[in-house]
Amino acid sequence: MILVGEDPASKVYVNNKKKACEYIGINSYEYLLPAETSQEELISLIEKLNNDERVSGILCQLPVPDHIDDQAIINAIAPEKDVDAFHPVNVGKIMTGNFDFVPCTPAGVMELINESGIDVCGKDCVVVGRSNIVGKPMAMLLLHRSGTVTICHSKTRELAEITRKADILVAAVGIPEFIKGDMIKPGAVVIDVGINRIAPKKLVGDVEFEAAEKIAGAITPVPGGVGPMTIAMLMKNTVKAAQINAQK
Ligand code: NAD
Repeated sequence: MILVGEDPASKVYVNNKKKACEYIGINSYEYLLPAETSQEELISLIEKLNNDERVSGILCQLPVPDHIDDQAIINAIAPEKDVDAFHPVNVGKIMTGNFDFVPCTPAGVMELINESGIDVCGKDCVVVGRSNIVGKPMAMLLLHRSGTVTICHSKTRELAEITRKADILVAAVGIPEFIKGDMIKPGAVVIDVGINRIAPKKLVGDVEFEAAEKIAGAITPVPGGVGPMTIAMLMKNTVKAAQINAQK
């Protein structure tokens, strides 16, 4: 795990991933680099780890400081060690449905859906948010399960009319309590990916939970819903990467 700079949220995420590794018996190593690290220095570290046989998975915690091009960093990680599944090779594989790794947050959402016995086939699925990390791969995974998928974003018109048609609604917007109760179809499955800190010790999701839980058939809480699943899926990808790298 590589962390560049002092972003407090990123430090918490890296620490949680480290604890999860310890818990399941994966050796993890952290490279805590100063904020002024150059892009060349960071890429050179990644290349060293790419070539290190003892390393199965490499993760660079995003965001990186502004002077570093995050896509250049993603591109530098060997696809077979890319446990975040952000490398274009892995993104392309997700499009075709023949993938080794799935980005951890959408993978965690699918695991919640599967474990809850929810059938996606033929359902109207609405994903609010189109980021490369969450929204787009989320939509693709629901499509692979034969959902009828709509992706909404900041330029979508009449958003509430669309979300109200969703049997499965995934919110990945990054705006606290953005999805109100009256934007949800009665009985819908509501999955809240958002993590928004609104006070030093208060996290809320992208869904107004109190109103939404009265209308939804099933809903994930924040904190405690999708977040822990994301880390579990990172562990799963890492074990898979170890298996793939052992076969080389
Ligand atoms: P992002 O900022 O990259 O993307 C946000 C998306 O929301 C954009 O595609 C944008 O078009 C859309 N959006 C913004 N305003 C909108 C509006 N008014 N109407 C409709 N769509 C709108 O964010 P991201 O990285 O996808 O993360 C989204 C949220 O999920 C954040 O709260 C983030 O903290 C959280 N997150 C959680 C986990 C987890 O492990 N649970 C992982 C990644 C991200």
